[in-house]
Amino acid sequence: MKKLEMLYEGKAKKVFKTEDEKRYVIEYKDDATAFNGVKKGTIVGKGVINNKMSALLFKMLEEKGIPTHFVELLSNREMLVKDVQILPLEVIMRNVAAGSLAKRLGLEEGVVMKTPVLEFCYKNDDLGDPMINEYHIRAVELATDDQVEKVKEYAFKINEILIDFFKERDIKLIDFKLEFGLHDGEVVLADEISPDTCRFWDANTNKKLDKDRFRRDLGDVEEAYNEILGRLQ
Ligand code: UDP
Repeated sequence: MKKLEMLYEGKAKKVFKTEDEKRYVIEYKDDATAFNGVKKGTIVGKGVINNKMSALLFKMLEEKGIPTHFVELLSNREMLVKDVQILPLEVIMRNVAAGSLAKRLGLEEGVVMKTPVLEFCYKNDDLGDPMINEYHIRAVELATDDQVEKVKEYAFKINEILIDFFKERDIKLIDFKLEFGLHDGEVVLADEISPDTCRFWDANTNKKLDKDRFRRDLGDVEEAYNEILGRLQ
């Protein structure tokens, strides 16, 4: 499908209209940012890896009953997706303490949560994506109660599916961020699932195989992204 004008350019992706008004093309870039855009860089080949990995995971999740925006892989860096209106929420699922949760609760990174933790952030770069709860969502109408219920149901189900999927590949799923959108009025999983948006640790060595290598200047960034995709294919 032919790409028409660009609708939107984000930090890691561009979104284009197509001849079909119900379909968009997402193009994945190698640009990397962290700390709300303060740290900038390039992870060579990241766009290709995140595109392929997201495609593979969206397909697998669809087969297990989660509606997603994914339609088909178009090229190394491009996928065709359904047009969605993104809900202004970042949905974070956590299985093990890391990053901001470890800080907030004063926990050592690596402490296993007794039950999965779901957090909402308001997707707003100017405000630095602040953490919010369901009362904020209702009070300023970021989503309806029915949409929030669907989002929560899908997020927990996705977490269970992904934990098992990665475990079979010797990867611990520490935490991850999801975004949902509305397509024909229905809640569907959108955005991406990749080492940019998840924390993955090697099951045997706990080596970080995700964007923390870039955030924290740990080196071997490209190698980590390649390693993860390699284990999935
Ligand atoms: N995350 C993300 N985008 C964001 C914030 C977080 O993809 O804007 C992901 C991040 O990669 C991690 C999880 O959500 O897998 C939890 O991130 P955390 O709140 O610990 O934030 P960070 O340590 O990145 O500030």
